[in-house]
Amino acid sequence: MRAFKAVGGRPIFIKRAKGCKMYDENSREYTDYCMSWGALILGHAHPVVVKAIKEQAEKGTSFGTCSKNEIEFGNLIRQAFPSVERMRLMNSGTEAVMTALRLARAFTNRDYIIKFDGCYHGHADNLLVRAGSGLSTLGISSSKGVLRVVAEKTISLPYNNLKAVEKVCKKMGRQVACIIIEPVAANMGVVLPKEGFLAGLRKLAQQYGILLIFDEVITGFRLCFGGAQNIFGIKPDLTILGKIIGGGLPIGLVGGRWEIMEQLAPMGEVYQAGTLSGNPLTTAAGIATLKYLAANKSIYSKLRMKTEFLLKSLREIFADKDILVQINYIGPVFSLFFAKKPIVDYASAKAQDSKVFAKFFQVMLKHGIYFSPSGFEANFLSQAHSYADLRTTINSAKTF
Ligand SMILES: *Cc1c(COP(=O)(O)O)cnc(C)c1O
Repeated sequence: MRAFKAVGGRPIFIKRAKGCKMYDENSREYTDYCMSWGALILGHAHPVVVKAIKEQAEKGTSFGTCSKNEIEFGNLIRQAFPSVERMRLMNSGTEAVMTALRLARAFTNRDYIIKFDGCYHGHADNLLVRAGSGLSTLGISSSKGVLRVVAEKTISLPYNNLKAVEKVCKKMGRQVACIIIEPVAANMGVVLPKEGFLAGLRKLAQQYGILLIFDEVITGFRLCFGGAQNIFGIKPDLTILGKIIGGGLPIGLVGGRWEIMEQLAPMGEVYQAGTLSGNPLTTAAGIATLKYLAANKSIYSKLRMKTEFLLKSLREIFADKDILVQINYIGPVFSLFFAKKPIVDYASAKAQDSKVFAKFFQVMLKHGIYFSPSGFEANFLSQAHSYADLRTTINSAKTF
């Protein structure tokens, strides 16, 4: 994913970053709109986070025991996500998703999983079926090396198509353990859920005894102090978090209803463990980030305004040049699709002109503006992006 396969050329090598700027090995400066794939909302090397990491590192980076940081961290998560009654910390989103699926299968005693085309949930075998992110960039529908018997238990349906889910449920709803979804898809580029889609899934899940899992690894603490579930008012049974909650260090979290989480070892019979899970360093970075966000919730409306300022100008520039573009965004997460028709699912996302995107990416890169290096990835603003930075980006886009 660091390679520039989708956009051509050689990937950049960064040696240092601060705020919204990154500096490569030749000390060239870039304004960053990838922000570590959305993991950094406060910007690179935010002083509050750096301080927390330094202070904790002095005291030890892993104890292999319980630590108070975990409690403080957990309380911050619960404050933001009322649906998360209990939780388990891990070291990546992928891991958390694996555990969520295992839990769902154990709790329901069913095998099948419903996911959506173009949604990415990390690289667990179960979910490498018509997945987004790197798989879209590389143009592969499923990974080699995944057992057919595993992939067969995964049903992938078109995003935003409630009818398709209804049909599967009618046929075999009582065999489905869970429906897992990015409540706002951000790994085929940004695709918003249509009105009623998430509520419809919630209803179907209820009806057939299926668990609804929201993968909020990108949306968690990105759109508000909480997640898409708070914004759309839908309560999932399980939630996956990652990226922002680690403050730039590796993390994953699965949490949700008490009686489901209780199935996890050592209380229950679903095994999960991790040598470095919940380590004091990651939790320190996470606590610093979440506390900062809790104390500065206006950050979210400011981010939205900045994003709208940027996108409005970009839209005008493309219109002037007669370049067809579909801009999808929510809060500070956005995608530019060079396409004729609105992007509502994976099929429409794949209809984008990747060559135009690659050209745009290269022109911007030449001006020191770093967008996520694929038309199937989202872009992110951080608190550190100033209006001056945005204006520079806009002026650079005028040369496209
Ligand atoms: C990034 C991502 C993951 C995987 O997280 P990793 O920490 O990279 O394993 C899972 N789900 C979504 C929605 C993601 O964006």
